[in-house]
Amino acid sequence: MLGWSLLLVLITLIGGTLPSATQLLVTTALVLLTGVMALQIFSGNSGILSFGHVGFVGIAAYTTGILAMPPTVKKTSLPILPELLQGIQLPIWQAMVGGVLVATIIGVISGLVVARLGDAASIATLAVLIILHGVMVGAEPFTRGSQTFYGVPRYTSIVVAGIIATLAVIVARVFRDSRLGIHLRASRDDSLAASSSGVRVHYARLVAWVISSAVAGAMGAAYAGLLGAFSPKDFYFSLTLTLLTMLIVGGSGSVAGGIVGAIVVTIVIELLRRVGDANGFFGLTSAGLAVIILLTLYLRPQGILGFREPEEVVAYKSLPVSPRDTDSDPLVGRDQSQGTVVLSCNDVVKRFSGLTALNGVSISVEAKRVAGMIGPNGSGKSTLVNCLTGLTKPDSANITQAGQPIGNQPVWRRARQGLGRTFQTVRLFREMTVLDNVTVACISSGLSPDRADRRSLQILSVLGVAQHGYRAAGELPYGDQRRVEIARALALNPRVLLLDEPAAGMNPAESRELLTQLQTLLQQTEVGILLIDHDVALIRSACDSLTVLDYGAVLAFGDPETVLAQPEVAAAYLGWRDQMPALDHTGATGQQKGNHHE
Ligand code: ADP
Ligand code: MG
Repeated sequence: MLGWSLLLVLITLIGGTLPSATQLLVTTALVLLTGVMALQIFSGNSGILSFGHVGFVGIAAYTTGILAMPPTVKKTSLPILPELLQGIQLPIWQAMVGGVLVATIIGVISGLVVARLGDAASIATLAVLIILHGVMVGAEPFTRGSQTFYGVPRYTSIVVAGIIATLAVIVARVFRDSRLGIHLRASRDDSLAASSSGVRVHYARLVAWVISSAVAGAMGAAYAGLLGAFSPKDFYFSLTLTLLTMLIVGGSGSVAGGIVGAIVVTIVIELLRRVGDANGFFGLTSAGLAVIILLTLYLRPQGILGFREPEEVVAYKSLPVSPRDTDSDPLVGRDQSQGTVVLSCNDVVKRFSGLTALNGVSISVEAKRVAGMIGPNGSGKSTLVNCLTGLTKPDSANITQAGQPIGNQPVWRRARQGLGRTFQTVRLFREMTVLDNVTVACISSGLSPDRADRRSLQILSVLGVAQHGYRAAGELPYGDQRRVEIARALALNPRVLLLDEPAAGMNPAESRELLTQLQTLLQQTEVGILLIDHDVALIRSACDSLTVLDYGAVLAFGDPETVLAQPEVAAAYLGWRDQMPALDHTGATGQQKGNHHE
């Protein structure tokens, strides 16, 4: 970040000596860069493409223009402006702050809607653009409608643009590495897994939207003083396309990507403009932008720089992770004595239209013990986990965690109170590093990003995957991904761990290793574990109690050996797979697929 800031300061300093055409080009690029940073803060971190930010740019430009314009000019340019505003002329910087404030207020109002929407959010941002454009066209006393608004003092020199762009870069970078920024980036990769790791997805999106609306406002405040005269169409699709191209070409996932994109696209636009002007072909720049954006999406969807800042890439290459640094610390957990009930549910019922997936299931998990659960595919095990964590809303249930009812709490709050889980099909934040995957949950548990990194390493080393710390999580082999997922759940400092088929897809050796790691966990912490698996050997050696689920109901419960010996349990399994040696000791049943409900 320091490097980029220095570069911008340098441009600002030598800017005054450049020929005036170049100065104008650089100033424009710096103003656009401010807008790209606004988009990076929201879209880059959340993964939700925003078409609405240019609306904030426009609102701020008009507001700043009105506040900065001398009353004598206003008399002719804005004759029907309300009396109060007619007489006002603020110093430039105050007028700019006014523009930013108005954009931010509109950011808060629109953000309350946009942040709540899931996949539809991107379309909603388009609506924001269209509505704000409509406001600019409609508010004639303030904007002269679709006619040109003129008379704004030309205060945006290369220095002013440089200072604002530098501030925008700093804000974007600080936000990216903040707790909320890290959380938002996790939700970009997988919002369900993020909320299960304690991320308040809606809240993080709202904060990012509001901050980015303020930065877009700063672009508008600078743009007004650069253009001097403008109309609503200057803040519509073509500016949106320019900013989005810059962000996407450079790489939306990093601040550096936004800067590189702004530089590259500025140069390309300038070249195309010259070629177009020389040949009388005026649509060339828009066509060029469209081609660049398509080429980028086709050839390198993550943009030139991808998801990481250059200094992260350098640091990751030069610093091998050394788990030995952290080995000696014990893995502190919650203070809960062995045998206390940390999670229980009574009479959970869940129907999916006609199908009753859970029909009155009750289980309880105790501290420092492993409650096992087996059952044929489709018997409702994963649905139970989803009901417990809040991802699925049960039709009726009575769920308590450490004695407190949690049935009405959102997923992220249950996670922060100590409900850790893994998914039957691994759900990591694939573009983030292994370390960051775990850090996300450490932050949810209340640690600062720095302390979170240290604890993440420690947890990763317990699971034996610390050496992969700086790799993208999506690159790891399957078994290691499962371990990282367990590490991430552990990072919540959980009272309970719900492991949904953690050994599925592992070979017997890997599954034994997993068992050892779980036992280490139980020695070092007081966590209670619900272990769901088909691997009977694993269940037999790991569990203190065993529940058998069949057709959404508890078929048997008790001591694992006794339960496994019951004829109806054997029948449930044998009915499921005739030839299945499920109840022997080979443990080779992890990968079996079959479904007696099909
Ligand atoms: P298990 O984890 O024991 O294999 P699941 O809990 O995944 O079983 O599924 C239990 C039953 O509920 C299955 O019949 C499955 O098809 C059904 N089911 C699970 N999730 C949904 C859903 N979101 N919508 C409809 N049916 C579902
Ligand atoms: Mg399942």
